[in-house]
Amino acid sequence: MKEQILFLVELQNIDLEIEKFMLKKVDLPKEITRLDEGLEAVERELEESGQKLDKLKADHKAKETALKNGIENSKKAKSRLLEVKTNKEYEATLKEIDAINEKSSGIEDEIIHILEELDKVNEDLKIKESETTSHRSGCENGKRRLEKELDSIGSVLDDLLNKRDKIRSGIKAKFLKKFDIIKDRKNGRAVVPARGEVCYGCHMNIPPQMYNELQKSERLMLCPHCERIIYWEGRDDNV
Ligand SMILES: [Zn+2]
Repeated sequence: MKEQILFLVELQNIDLEIEKFMLKKVDLPKEITRLDEGLEAVERELEESGQKLDKLKADHKAKETALKNGIENSKKAKSRLLEVKTNKEYEATLKEIDAINEKSSGIEDEIIHILEELDKVNEDLKIKESETTSHRSGCENGKRRLEKELDSIGSVLDDLLNKRDKIRSGIKAKFLKKFDIIKDRKNGRAVVPARGEVCYGCHMNIPPQMYNELQKSERLMLCPHCERIIYWEGRDDNV
């Protein structure tokens, strides 16, 4: 009888292990996906910074061209001053030159602003590049570890299922049936130890006479409170 109880305890341990690995089999791919998504988000940010930089560079180039044209136009207008015939024409040309110069001065301010922005974005891009590099290598290492773990689960589960079959074949059918029913009802824990007249499944007291009988291990006994299979481990300390 004692051996049968020990088999049931072992079966329970194996079942719990199997459950643990089954959960892992579902969770690990999710974890891998999470790592991928994290990396994608970081890479997207880096790309956005790169696009911002490109846009600023294009803006800068356009403003420089506009400034160059302004200076050119101003020069042309100035040379025309020498050829004007009337005072009115002279005034008009001066006004035109003023307007061109004012516009150029505005463009110069804009260029300064763009250059400042370029510095900031460049700095930001450098930081993001190094962050992305370290994030990527961390992510790849993590994925490799998780994938390796996931790969190994198949054979671990096979081993456990084999062990489970073997141990089940050594247990009497009526005990197995009882075990399976209680296991379903009690969320996995069908066999629990009892120590010092206490059931370690529900922590209720077991009547002394029953506990004496339990210590003899002559028959399969259930806790009168939680109805789990109880067994005596051969010790009564609470450690
Ligand atoms: Zn109990």
